[in-house]
Amino acid sequence: MPEGHVTHRAARLHTKRFGKKSVNVSSPQGRFSDSAQKVDGSVVEKIEARGKHIFYWFSTGEAVHIHLGLFGKFRLSKSPFPEPSENARVLIWTDDHEMQLTGPNTCELLVPTEIEKVLSKLGPDPIAEGMNGLERFQTAVSKRKIPVGRALMDQKVAAGLGNVFRSELLFLTGINPHTASNELPEDQVDQLWRTIVDALKSAERSGKIVTITPEDAGDTPRSKLERNESLYTYHRDGRGCRRCGTLIQMNKIDSRNIWWCPNCQPAR
Ligand SMILES: [Zn+2]
Repeated sequence: MPEGHVTHRAARLHTKRFGKKSVNVSSPQGRFSDSAQKVDGSVVEKIEARGKHIFYWFSTGEAVHIHLGLFGKFRLSKSPFPEPSENARVLIWTDDHEMQLTGPNTCELLVPTEIEKVLSKLGPDPIAEGMNGLERFQTAVSKRKIPVGRALMDQKVAAGLGNVFRSELLFLTGINPHTASNELPEDQVDQLWRTIVDALKSAERSGKIVTITPEDAGDTPRSKLERNESLYTYHRDGRGCRRCGTLIQMNKIDSRNIWWCPNCQPAR
């Protein structure tokens, strides 16, 4: 599932093309036709991301709320546009640019009070709030007695984290994923949030998740690393830790696999 860097990057790239522009809106697939008609021809005031959610705000005062889920995909095109997919839930276009959305988990037209409801279910967003989100993160972490590996998947703890980031960020901070969230010392929680902010912002800029540090990457520039060279633990079970050689472990937390190095991330 796309993590928070994907939604923020999409919001930024879409804003460049559609921000403050009057746009055409349709739903080739038909499931969004009534809502598309309501905003067709109006101006896109802003496009925002919060966690894994994207909001296209229109001059009508409403916003299209999008959650990509597992299968949702955006396609951006320049004129002349390719044929839209018959599965396109939404098509938004100007004379020059087009955005096609297929397969989203959620795509709905909401009024501001409904949007407030969506936002109220989200914790601090590391990309939108940066270090300002630290206090809310500290509070959320200290209230949960569940393993921290599970707490990080709770969108009320941190909005935008998914399965790749949770394993990698815990490795970077030397925290064992099974440690109870509320037992983490304050300085580790601070360091964890700082690491989350840095990692997501960096992934938003580059469009991919590279957690390996320049020291560990060696001579290869980080931008040139293949996916299987960019991460410390994710899908590396049974292979040696890049730092200490200990075999990376895997098990399930919250029905999703999680990976860690038992030596670099000792149990407390
Ligand atoms: Zn290690």
